[in-house]
Formats: sequence, C-alpha cells, structure tokens
Amino acid sequence: MLTLTWGAATDVGCVRELNQDNLWASGRLFAVADGMGGHAAGEVASELAVAELSGLAELSPLRPEDITAAITSANERIVRGGLERRDRFGMGTTITGLAVVSNGEGEKLAVFNVGDSRVYRFTGGTLVQVTVDHSAVEEMVAAGHIAREQARHHPRRNVVTRSLGSYPAPDADVWVLDPVVGDRFLICSDGLTGELDDPEIAQVLATEQDPQAAADRLVSQARQAGGADNITTIVVALASAG
Ligand code: MN
Repeated sequence: MLTLTWGAATDVGCVRELNQDNLWASGRLFAVADGMGGHAAGEVASELAVAELSGLAELSPLRPEDITAAITSANERIVRGGLERRDRFGMGTTITGLAVVSNGEGEKLAVFNVGDSRVYRFTGGTLVQVTVDHSAVEEMVAAGHIAREQARHHPRRNVVTRSLGSYPAPDADVWVLDPVVGDRFLICSDGLTGELDDPEIAQVLATEQDPQAAADRLVSQARQAGGADNITTIVVALASAG
C-alpha cells in the first residue's frame, strides 16, 4: 500500500483581514479551497467544499468518479447556502487536491481541480504544474494573446472562470496518475503562486526535504514577498509503495 507523508500550512497573509482559504489533509486525501465572497461568505464556501470532500476519506476503495460526485454535491450545497442568506449570496470557492484512488488496476493518484488553486508535481528535481488554471489569464495564454510570463502580473489575474457555487455546475478536471515513490506534490492557493514563481517554489522543495518544513517555508517566503492574499500549502511525499 502506498505510504504518504505530508505537511500543511495556511496563513492570512500580510494584507487581508480574514483567511478565506481552507484545507483538508488526511492519510489518503488532500484538498485546498480558496473562498470568494463578501465579508465571511468566502470562508463559509471554502469550508463547505472541504467538508464535503472530506467525506471521501472514509470511502474504500475510493474511485475517481466519487471525487467528481463530491465536487458536484459541494457545488449544490454552496449554491443553496448562497440563496439562504443575503450576506452569502453569490459566494463561491475553488477546490483542488490529490487523493489515492483505485481504478481496478491498483492504487493510483487522482488530481482534481475547479478554479485557480493548483497542484504541482515535483519529480526528479523538476516542478511540473498538473492542474490547468480556470482563469481569464490562462485562457488568454492558451489563445496566444499574452505570454505566460505576463499572466502573473496581468490586471485580470484574479478572474476565475470556473468555481464552486455556480449554476449550472462547473465541470471538474480529474487526472489519474501512476504513483512514483520519491515524488512530492504541492497543493496551494493562488496566494502562494501570486508571490512566488515556479523556479522559486522548486528551489524551496529542493532544499526542504521534510514536507512540513517545505509547507511552512513556502508560506513564509510568500509573506516575505508581500503576502497580498491568503496563503495555503500542502506538501505530500510518496514515501513508499511497499
Ligand atoms: Mn486567493
């Protein structure tokens, strides 16, 4: 059975009053949600999303389609919650993460995403973004209107094109990957990637072998870089397949 070790950190940052990010980290399931909405509504949305996904931790075996179903029901709960209270109207959240699943061919890793939080894979010293941002700037990059280097500082960088709390329900992206012992995964909100570029993130992962030390160091470097948004990190290491 696949053995995972992990560390997680979340921080309000240096500018915001509230931390509207939420995370879940258990033995087999890891998720980050970045809430959006006035006052505390974003925090409610991200908490609802993480709570719904956390129910998957009890399923054995967990299948990729269970994740898609949980994301759909999280979306419904957030839409309903937003209609029940005026101060929560229109609340939403991103959701992204990683889970150990079985698809009939043994244990695999499923990476899932709605929105612009991210999952990266750090394999053989190379950092690769697994998820594709659902954001206006990502669409502009894909269409060739702007260069990737311009995306991080573009005025529309915070415009998310898919989120939970939407009607009709957004499509979730799910990737099923073969686990490789020694790989590490980083799950993070845009408060990290807005402050640190990929080479800076890779440098921290290369330096800090311990998942908790890496998660903490990423957050503290993002704070030092300005900490304009809430920052959440989960670092997951594939320790053994024995
Ligand atoms: Mn954010």
